Amino acid sequence: MLMSSDIPNVLIQQLRSWSQAGLSHLPKARYSQPRPGDHSISEVAAGNPSRSVATEIAASSSTGVAASTATGAHAVDFISSAEDNYAAAASSANVQTPPTSRVGSQGLLGGWQIGVTGSAIDVRPYPVSLRIDERQHQLGQLALQVAGCRRCAILSGCRTQTVFGVGNPQPRLVLFGEAPGAEEDQQGEPFVGAAGQLLNKIIQACQMRREDVYIMNTVKCRPPQNRNPNPDEMENCWEYAERQFEILQPEFICCLGKVAAQRLLKTEAAISRLRGRWFNYRGSRVMVTYHPAYLLRTPSAKKATWDDMKMLLKEMGIELPQA
Ligand code: SF4
Repeated sequence: MLMSSDIPNVLIQQLRSWSQAGLSHLPKARYSQPRPGDHSISEVAAGNPSRSVATEIAASSSTGVAASTATGAHAVDFISSAEDNYAAAASSANVQTPPTSRVGSQGLLGGWQIGVTGSAIDVRPYPVSLRIDERQHQLGQLALQVAGCRRCAILSGCRTQTVFGVGNPQPRLVLFGEAPGAEEDQQGEPFVGAAGQLLNKIIQACQMRREDVYIMNTVKCRPPQNRNPNPDEMENCWEYAERQFEILQPEFICCLGKVAAQRLLKTEAAISRLRGRWFNYRGSRVMVTYHPAYLLRTPSAKKATWDDMKMLLKEMGIELPQA
């Protein structure tokens, strides 16, 4: 297990490896440095053993998430009374609150951050911000490029159409999911099926409209039988997602589910170890929560998801109406 005292050695090893690979310059981040309390993936790797959902709820309290059992009227459609009961039971469980003190360093070096497997997470600054008309134009051009993409033989061979992304070209928040499903493949828009309906409720509960945010996936073509995209497919498609982020330059990114979180943060850490923390991707503040499709299969996770969203709203300065 990686310990905090090992971090300097890890940095040295990473520098040597980059140097051997011919990298002589590390760009310096200028857009937004990580803030106090933001976590590096190394910290997650170093920190906690696997935690149950009940422990996660307790952990949320220690990281600034209000793990209240009162959900408020605004979340009535999103969280059923069954989940409230579950949360109350979890909150009263005899769980240990994990230590809050973590690695003092953010694990940062120039424009890069050490990942859990020794890989470098991208915290380089975004390019110069574009005007809204330029964003629309560039997103349109990129969508055309994606529509003709055939990098993944299987996915491009069985898709109805590509599913690029939709929403506000100048968003504060990007919701970053996994891959299109059957409905999305038919309609060409992300999150329009059952999981999309639930995501809409979550967005509304957060006092936002779907058109306020931007919604996109890790891969733009539907994997057959709704399987997870494989590593090659995610790598093939990453260039497009990366370019979308460069155009959108959101303040916040909410990763929906482990596929999106693990790809963006370059980690294999379980989602239960990524939730309740802030990360940095190129100046965007990144948090992780469950995928709406998982919530449909596991309604007991809705309460934890709502805690995640409250953590996000607090940072965004969005106040929830009183219950
Ligand atoms: S998933 Fe992405 S990279 Fe693969 S064929 Fe579709 S658009 Fe191209």
